[in-house]
Amino acid sequence: MTSESFSSLPISSAQIANLDSLGYKQMTAIQAQGLPYVLQGKDLIAQAKTGSGKTATFGIGLLQQINPRFFGVQALVLCPTRELADQVGKELRKLARSTANIKLVLLCGGKPFAPQKSSLAHGAHIVVGTPGRIQDHLSRGTLTLTGVQTLVLDEADRMLDMGFFDVINEIIEQTPDKRQTLLFSATYPSSIKKMCATILKDPVTVSVESEHTDSVIEQTFYQVKSHQRNQALLSLFAHYQPETTVVFCHTKVQCDEVARFLHEHQIEALAIHGDLEQRERDQVLVRFANHSCSVLVATDVAARGLDIKLLQAVINFELPRDPDIYVHRIGRTGRAGEKGIALSLYTEQEHLRVKAIEAYQNKPCVIATIESLQTNRGVPIQSPMVTIQLDVGRKNKIRPGDLLGALTGDAGLSGSQIGKIDIFDISSYVAVERSALTKVLKYFANGKVKGRSVRARKID
Ligand code: ADP
Ligand code: MG
Repeated sequence: MTSESFSSLPISSAQIANLDSLGYKQMTAIQAQGLPYVLQGKDLIAQAKTGSGKTATFGIGLLQQINPRFFGVQALVLCPTRELADQVGKELRKLARSTANIKLVLLCGGKPFAPQKSSLAHGAHIVVGTPGRIQDHLSRGTLTLTGVQTLVLDEADRMLDMGFFDVINEIIEQTPDKRQTLLFSATYPSSIKKMCATILKDPVTVSVESEHTDSVIEQTFYQVKSHQRNQALLSLFAHYQPETTVVFCHTKVQCDEVARFLHEHQIEALAIHGDLEQRERDQVLVRFANHSCSVLVATDVAARGLDIKLLQAVINFELPRDPDIYVHRIGRTGRAGEKGIALSLYTEQEHLRVKAIEAYQNKPCVIATIESLQTNRGVPIQSPMVTIQLDVGRKNKIRPGDLLGALTGDAGLSGSQIGKIDIFDISSYVAVERSALTKVLKYFANGKVKGRSVRARKID
């Protein structure tokens, strides 16, 4: 970790003050390495793992270039999924606070087209979105990219995995040749190299090695027969009893099946993958983050960019073919000096994948047998909290304080029984201790929030 301050950069003092107010005291390693080049206008390839601060690395740069008086799209950020685009949009809006009147529009699929069209018609400086929807806007003539100065490909490896190569190229063709292109990726496979060669000009490459060292992540591999996988998974949970876990699967179908299987065996697990509706995804993430669900079963794509803190265990239900992906998956545990556990199931046929990981990490993998696990400690992994959904939200001018007030006041809960509160447009989610559930539901049967009666239900 370098300890350089943002004030060493050629950026406005308003931005430096803004960064300070956001609590960004020092640059992260990728920012310290990348930002000087970005601010010089160079093309950049930046490789660093999730959570390393890549958004600000391009965000600070592209904002510096924007002319608020020109109402055209000057920066375009392509992201693989809606969720990631949302996260990038949020971060850019925070970074843009130092500059007056900058308009950012999110263009993602799964949302109605008309409001996006009218936002664009009113003039947008920055567009953040997914390739499919951006291409839609281009083909309908509702978006022009001729004024783009900065083009960002965020999570480029994921976008290629998702088959966006052609679409991305078509989008890029509509941007000026004279532009700055910044490409961010957590891994650097050959497909990315190929893409970089065609769309970047004389790029600088910066890369930050994963910060976790192997001593923090305990990695163990278990060879199983393919019909034993489910049972082996239960044994892992029984032995390790992790409080928070992500189980990685290859396919959406597999995610659903594994989550269902765990659920049938008293382990609260939720699947997350690209087929979920936005509302369902929101619910899953809310419940995992507020500790009312302790296991997430995810595809690589869906797990990307999730800002999950303190993950105790990562389980590979199957090993990925690419060791790079393995290392990236397990890097989600053992953060911030906490010890993490990485457990992998593999079959004899997948043996070569273990070999590839050994070669990549340059050390032997620890192999153990399922039989060596202690499974008699009993499974049910019950989360400490439950989530209550309320049918009021931002549109009803509800704020977290209103809900907290109602629950600690009239409903008679103590503050410590209430966990995370998430407010969405037309609904809100409150985590409460399991033991307080009945009290809360009883309260909402008659009680009010801001003088309005509210419908409440436990989600499961
Ligand atoms: P990445 O894109 O590399 O996965 P993000 O850009 O989403 O990472 O940043 C991860 C988190 O770190 C975000 O919550 C962001 O607000 C925060 N962050 C970024 N830069 C800094 C910094 N210099 N100091 C403190 N926090 C930062
Ligand atoms: Mg990112």
